[in-house]
Amino acid sequence: MTAVAPDDLLAAATSDLRAEARALRARVHGNRVTYSPKVFIPLTMLCRDRCGYCTFAKPPARVRSPYLSPDEVLAVARAGATTGCHEALFTLGEAPEERYPAARTWLDGHGYTSTVDYLVAMCALVRDETGLLPHANAGALDADELARLRPVAASQGMMLESLDPDLACHRGAPDKTPQRRLATLEAAGQLAIPFTTGVLVGIGESRHERIRTLSAIADSHRAYGHVQEVIVQNFLPKPGTAMHDHPPCPPEELWWTIAVARLVLPPEVHVQAPPNLSDDLAPLLDSGLDDWGGVSPVTVDHVNPERAWPAVQLLRDATEAAGCTLAARLTVYPEYAADPDRWIDPALRFPVLDHSDADGLGREDPWCSGGVVAPPVLVGDAVEVGPGRGAGAGGGAVAEVLAGVGLGQEVGEDEIVTLFSARGPEVRAVAEMADQLRRDEVGDVVTWVANRNINYTNVCTFKCKFCAFSKGPLSLNLRGAPYLLELSDITERVVEAENAGATEVCLQGGIHPSFDGDYYLEVIHAVREASDRIHIHGFTALEVTEGARRLGEPLVDYLGRLKDAGLATLPGTAAEILDDEVRAVLCPDKINTEQWLDAHRAAHSIGLRSNVTIMFGAIERPRSWARHLVRTRDLQRETGGFTEFVPLPFVHMASPIYLQRRARRGPTFRETLLMHAVGRIAYRGWISNIQASWVKMGAAGAVQALQAGVNDLGGTLMDENISRAAGASHGQLMDEEGFRSLVEPLGRRLEQRTTLYGRVPAPC
Ligand code: SF4
Repeated sequence: MTAVAPDDLLAAATSDLRAEARALRARVHGNRVTYSPKVFIPLTMLCRDRCGYCTFAKPPARVRSPYLSPDEVLAVARAGATTGCHEALFTLGEAPEERYPAARTWLDGHGYTSTVDYLVAMCALVRDETGLLPHANAGALDADELARLRPVAASQGMMLESLDPDLACHRGAPDKTPQRRLATLEAAGQLAIPFTTGVLVGIGESRHERIRTLSAIADSHRAYGHVQEVIVQNFLPKPGTAMHDHPPCPPEELWWTIAVARLVLPPEVHVQAPPNLSDDLAPLLDSGLDDWGGVSPVTVDHVNPERAWPAVQLLRDATEAAGCTLAARLTVYPEYAADPDRWIDPALRFPVLDHSDADGLGREDPWCSGGVVAPPVLVGDAVEVGPGRGAGAGGGAVAEVLAGVGLGQEVGEDEIVTLFSARGPEVRAVAEMADQLRRDEVGDVVTWVANRNINYTNVCTFKCKFCAFSKGPLSLNLRGAPYLLELSDITERVVEAENAGATEVCLQGGIHPSFDGDYYLEVIHAVREASDRIHIHGFTALEVTEGARRLGEPLVDYLGRLKDAGLATLPGTAAEILDDEVRAVLCPDKINTEQWLDAHRAAHSIGLRSNVTIMFGAIERPRSWARHLVRTRDLQRETGGFTEFVPLPFVHMASPIYLQRRARRGPTFRETLLMHAVGRIAYRGWISNIQASWVKMGAAGAVQALQAGVNDLGGTLMDENISRAAGASHGQLMDEEGFRSLVEPLGRRLEQRTTLYGRVPAPC
């Protein structure tokens, strides 16, 4: 059943269909257009079919070997992995061993029963050796063959091409019968395989037949939900084929079919047209597509070797010129990656996660929080502005939200989620808005604080899944020795810190089984023994909640005693993500969202100020980030007790949840930059200081954050054990000159602050 009657489609003007398709794309998919950075692996170019348009298939005499060897497969895949690809597209002829003795002999000689048997082995090899996500495009397969590929290929595909049974081009092709193709599509649905299919336009079929083919795809998707994308591919004649003198598909016919595909298919199905088969990309976008398919920086299109892939920059320029943004995706689309229990075989869940960003799209650069790879340049003068670029946020949802922000409107949860979806020039537009708000709110001064971290113990009874710092009994052998500082060590460290000019000590640590609430009072006394001036910034919401609980004392009374002893402010750590769905996975035995908020509410009620942190990029989605910002803003409205917002991008390298293959590799740099910028926008009028963590972002990352709403660089952190335990490598100490070298080239002024944003007088 089609939603749109075929006769109406056939009677409508192409321009009307394209306008309707464009509008539908905008409603359902926004202005995001995706592509898949991939390598193309032609496992075998032998095929038992003889299609009239094909130059891919070759006889054994024209190939060096019937199949690529495992080494050749791996060499291509490795080249892709080092150039940022996510997908290894295996394309191959259909069952060549049924036609060519050379193929059968090769398979027998290498211990494989069939081409699909060898394909399964090569997909597994690529998955395991390179982490790339295989996509198997192996033609018409039966259910057993599809099922064998499911654990080794994140998605599979087969062009339906056309259901017209009388096409001359398919006469010599036993695998191209409509029944066989439809049976493959059906079986893939039953097996819950994210599936790619498509139509070939201009091979002799009528418009009516094309609608029939698209309708059959739509029906199959309605039954199983598995058709993630439909390729609309235009026929181009090739020398040496039976159809060499057949006219190419006219561009208007391609545009008509893209629009009709968008209108006939269920709206969530992505519509793709190959960008290397058209000279002008704008009309394709104007016809309603939302995906460009695979584009390779490494390999040619072996099916259309005469048509080079466009450079990604060209694709980006064409996409942005149409008011859209370009995003790299995985071979499995985000909707499918978001429901792994249903759609992704357990053997592929981590490879998918490892390539994903928070939207389930492909990571766009190799930058990682705490790592040594330089971030991409997303803001600042060094951003390249090409045709169609630098045009701000274009006309999409991000632009609409920014327009509201420009008018003074406060962003709610949905608007915040929209801002986090910014890509390309939209990122720059969000950053520029945040930069403007920063200028209006706190001017051009950038602040820093001279402080020392003292992590008194790394022994902890809690089992936060992300925490590489804590040592429980089971991990004694994994991560070195547990420690508990003597109180005299703490005093000594404070003396050293003050002698080195520190105005603050930051105290936090694991929850040692021997601690009761009095321990934290003893720590304060140990600090005060060394200095009666130094600002004591200490004890997370978890520590004070646990301390009060272990003493059986009301939290507010306990906080009052800590304050009387000398505690001045609380860090916002232990917040992680203030969304209980996420906490249930990340830190199930820790305080929940309400308890974190209650601890800070209690602290604020007795004059202890604190800050908001967010540890982001492990498992959660932008919706949870938005909830975190809104919940903390609501508390700030109530108490006014937060001094600053400190985004802490998840450092994955040594984190248990990453090592157990259950988390992403932290946020991308785009997400990290946006967290600072969106924080500035969301907290406007409520929290005026936004801090960048140089430990996690590195100096180059912090410089960009300073152009995206940030006005504070945090502390010198004379010791920083927690990030280093998780694998961060950005040093242990930053000094004033280091901060100055980041700030002054931006034309900003550096000032030393106290913990509460007072100014520290310069030494005479
Ligand atoms: S994050 Fe804190 S509470 Fe959780 S395990 Fe690590 S040290 Fe313990």
